[in-house]
Order: sequence, then structure tokens, then C-alpha cells
Amino acid sequence: MRVVSWCRAGSLLGASAVLSGKHELSIRRSLALAAGSELAAGSESPLSLYALSDEDLTTLVTGWGEKAYRAKQIREWVRAGTTEFDEMSNLPLGLRRKLAACVAPSALEIATEQRSRDGTVKRAYRLRDGAVIESVLMPYDDGRRTACISSQAGCAMGCVFCATGQMGFRRQLTAGEIYEQAARFAEGDARLTNVVFMGMGEPMLNYAAVSESIRRLSDELGMGSRRITVSTVGVVPGIAKLAVDHPGVNLAISLHAADEAARSALLPANARYGGLDVLMKAASDYWRSTKRRVTFEWALARGQNDDVATARRLGHLLRAHHLAGPASHVNVIPLNPTKGYAGGPAAQRAVDEFCIVLRREFGVGATVRTRRGIDIDAGCGQLADSLLP
Ligand code: SF4
Repeated sequence: MRVVSWCRAGSLLGASAVLSGKHELSIRRSLALAAGSELAAGSESPLSLYALSDEDLTTLVTGWGEKAYRAKQIREWVRAGTTEFDEMSNLPLGLRRKLAACVAPSALEIATEQRSRDGTVKRAYRLRDGAVIESVLMPYDDGRRTACISSQAGCAMGCVFCATGQMGFRRQLTAGEIYEQAARFAEGDARLTNVVFMGMGEPMLNYAAVSESIRRLSDELGMGSRRITVSTVGVVPGIAKLAVDHPGVNLAISLHAADEAARSALLPANARYGGLDVLMKAASDYWRSTKRRVTFEWALARGQNDDVATARRLGHLLRAHHLAGPASHVNVIPLNPTKGYAGGPAAQRAVDEFCIVLRREFGVGATVRTRRGIDIDAGCGQLADSLLP
């Protein structure tokens, strides 16, 4: 059994002690599955507390002969930001030792953290196998605190303007590693109001782990699905699955171009998933089945996709797929420059005109997303890129 050799407590407690009790099957399954996913990812280190759901943790401690409320106590320490088992002073010494022998407090080590003048916090985490990922916290004046989290280390999608895409794919993140990024921004008295899957990676290509982390954000951080947004470059099968599994979740699609050739030049994945019409039909289906407004992300690059004619092309595209009006919203954001792409951000006047055309001529809601953390490496992948050899 993989858990036995992996868990250092095997020698301390005996494998049967770790895995005995009425939850044996369930703890075997949860630990083996979670250990398998982390081992498969290249890590031989013990599972982190964040990799165990509340249910898993209860099963684990009761399997050790402890009362179920001990799991709640452990989780309270974790939520308070305690990373040392020795400091969990209301736990019996024996339990602290078992935990220290078998479980790591966390899987993510902060490699660096940057704080912007606007309050944005950007963290680069080093994973146990050396991979680096990013997550960002964006506090707003109205009280919202939004975490932007990664679903993969690196990304295989190759969007030309994106620092993560320029870096390439390293590996899938586990559900625990994804969930931990959000939970670490919700420690102590801090609370999160929203989570967006817009960090490194294409969430739909790590669907099972993303889906599990959405469930845990809801169950363990109390986050309503309407406060969670999954962003995709257009992985059509994932959009259909999300509509069934998490119909309350918001869908965002990185569009950036309204004709086939221009989109394929910016996002090589465009053709791989059937092209623009297939994608827009999937977006339209999402709206019809979930009644959740679909957001289209549009990075405005100077002289490339920021002109009035392009805005009209986008308006016609949305209208043709019954996505104008309440079914969609366009978020425009001046392009964040990266060292691997020559394009620059659109001028303010072009940004304004682009939005006005969408609103006035097509009835499409369009807003300019504030560029957050522009005094730090705020674009997706930029901070991690600076840390990788
Ligand atoms: S924009 Fe998103 S999907 Fe595209 S390369 Fe970057 S991380 Fe990957």
C-alpha cells in the first residue's frame, strides 16, 4: 500500500493503526488518491493538511482513535495560519506527533511576495518539486477581496502575449495545491469574497482537480458558486462539463479576437478546439443552461485589436450567437506587456471607443478592467518567470 511506505508514521504507528477503524476504506481511498496524485506529480513528500478535505481529516484522526472534534481543532489552527504542529496547543502531544510524522502543514512555500501601492498582493509559491506558481490577492474599495489562483504550473496553451505561455507547461496542480492558494489568503480574520481561476494554466485541462477545488472552496471556505469564476482560453469540452457540474459558477472566456485568423495567431488553441463558431456556440449553450452571464476577456493591444472596426466585428459575433444583451459582458483590459511579445497596451482613447461601440451599437455590457498591481510583476506568469532559472 502506497500510503504505508510514504507515511513516516508507518514505523511509528504501524500501518494498521494508520488505516484501521470504520473509515478504513474511505481513508485508504482518500489518502491513496491524494498521495498518488502528488507522487505522480513528482513529490515524495507527505501530503499537506490542505490536500485533505475536512471529511478526510476527520476520517484520518478518528482512524487513529481520536475524537472527531480533533479534526475541527486542527482545521482551526490551519485557518489561523499556524504552520507548526507543536504550536497546536490544544491537541494531545501524541496526535501532534502523529501529524508531524505523517502530514505536512502545507504544500506551498512562499518564494517571494510583492505588494502593490493599490493593495494587490502577488505571491510566487515554490512547490516541493521546485515548480513555481503564482497567486494574487486583489482588495477593492467596496470590501471585495478576490483571489486569482493557478491551476497548472506553467501552461501548454502558448498564448503569444502571456508570460506563462512563453514559459511552457510543467505539471498539473493537485486539488490541494489549488485549494491552498485561496485558503492561504483567507487565514486569520481575513476573508475572501471571490475566487477567479485566472492564474497560471488552463483550468479546463486540469478539470478534475479544479472541480474538486471548487467543491472545497464552497464546502470549507463557505464561498458561494456565484463568487467563483473559471476562465478558459476556449476548451469546449470543459465548458460543457462545467455547466453540468457547477452550474452556478461564472464562466470567463479569453477571446481577444473576433475573426478566426487573428484569434489563431494570438491563441494557438483556437483551432485545436474547433475555432470561433464552435466556441461561441459553447458559450451560448452555457448561458442557456445555467443562466449565468458569460464574460469575454479582451486584452487590448495597441494597433492590433483595439480599433472600432474590430469592436464592431466582436459585436456582430456576439449578436450572431445570441450573446448580445444580458447573456454576456466584455471585460477589456489594456495589454500587460511581457518580454516575449512585442505588443503594447492600447491608448486610453482607443479603449474608451472600443467600449462605447459595444455598448451603444450592440447593447453589450463592456467595462474596462482596472489593471491591478501595475507597479509589481502583476501579469500572469511574470513573477514566476523572474524566479525560474
Ligand atoms: S493566457 Fe492562460 S491559457 Fe493562455 S498561455 Fe497564459 S495561462 Fe495559458
